[in-house]
Amino acid sequence: MPQLTKSAELLEKAKKFIPGGVNSPVRAFKSVGGTPIFMAKGQGAYMTDVDGNTYLDYVGSWGPFILGSMHPRITAALEHTLTKIGTSFGTPIEMEIEIAELLTQIVPSIEMVRMVNSGTEATMSAVRLARGYTGRDKIIKFEGCYHGHGDSFLIKAGSGALTLGAPDSPGVTKGTANDTLNAKYNNLESVELLVKENKGNVAAIIIEPVAGNTGVIPADKAFLQGLRDLCTREGIILIFDEVMCGFRVALGGAQERYGITPDLTTMGKIIGGGLPVGAFGGKREIMEHIAPLGDIYQAGTLSGNPLALTAGLETLKILRDENPYPELERKAACLEEGFRSNMEKLGLNYVQNRVGSMGCLFFTETPVTDYDTAVTSNLEKFGKYFHAMLDQGIYLAPSQFEAMFTSAVMTDEDLEKTVKANFVALQAAE
Ligand code: PLP
Repeated sequence: MPQLTKSAELLEKAKKFIPGGVNSPVRAFKSVGGTPIFMAKGQGAYMTDVDGNTYLDYVGSWGPFILGSMHPRITAALEHTLTKIGTSFGTPIEMEIEIAELLTQIVPSIEMVRMVNSGTEATMSAVRLARGYTGRDKIIKFEGCYHGHGDSFLIKAGSGALTLGAPDSPGVTKGTANDTLNAKYNNLESVELLVKENKGNVAAIIIEPVAGNTGVIPADKAFLQGLRDLCTREGIILIFDEVMCGFRVALGGAQERYGITPDLTTMGKIIGGGLPVGAFGGKREIMEHIAPLGDIYQAGTLSGNPLALTAGLETLKILRDENPYPELERKAACLEEGFRSNMEKLGLNYVQNRVGSMGCLFFTETPVTDYDTAVTSNLEKFGKYFHAMLDQGIYLAPSQFEAMFTSAVMTDEDLEKTVKANFVALQAAE
């Protein structure tokens, strides 16, 4: 079991100055208990904490680290920008064109794109654009999907909101909440009904095409195709929120993997390679309504920041040039198989969902296809499992409702170690 003396001390100090001692709620270990761990250093697939304990990292900074931490090509590029270019200008720079052009080449829906600083900014901006473009107010989202902490999305949201049991946040006005309609994931009828009841008033349908904030839930292809057809028929903007699954489940994201093209796409996490970057983009005809070309306002002091774009651009180029996706698939499948075989030996039958290198072991035997089935998971068992994995040096997200990310730098020995730890942790959870 790792000694967490220094982490515990730092937490007490942090609590004096930072609400809950953390700058993002799910880091607080609230649902699993115990001391949140203060990290000191990351390298490849490993992180070392302030007490000197080392962990194999399946959180990857909540998604960005598909290539692990401190990839040599990315750190070299960052060093170059830092010492030879500058940290910010607030003017256009050439690198912005380079990343925009690259995105049009690799993400099927992107004809034009705008860079922002986080996934939240991307989704907020995409929804404003959809509303401005259509002249309609309502949006449809899905129970358990998380689209950042913008007011419109904190209604039956996933991720931290679900983990903390506070899906409807105080501070979100009734007016905003009334404009957000919640449908059921993988259930086209629930969407059709909302569209019918709000005929001519729905601006956008926003969805995680692989849901990763209620644990991992793949969308049925027919369901996504149904959404695409419905949106086309009703003049509704279809937004794929690929902040998590973009560049993760395929280079071109879920839209490439499923072969279904949305009108707008939001991106984050991997696109920043560990620095704060987000982006939204899509059809030229819609994107041209953004200021200064159109009158829908969107802006950012540090948007297109050279340092942040350097990490993102280099990450995307490595992914394009090295195509790690078949290997990621193999590695993640190997973990899934290992966990399945462990469960068989132990007479357990918990559900595993996986799309590429996004996976989730749910402590339930009910197939998980939406929010209602995800919350049948036994959270007490998950908590025990999480701590037993941590005790063996495996760092998982401290919540049942988050993804387990396999990274390209994990070795077969790392995977073997994880499968062995899983065998012990599954027993500890019972
Ligand atoms: N959309 C999805 C699908 C996410 O998973 C997240 C974050 O986890 C966001 C949006 C918000 O991104 P950020 O935390 O960068 O604001």
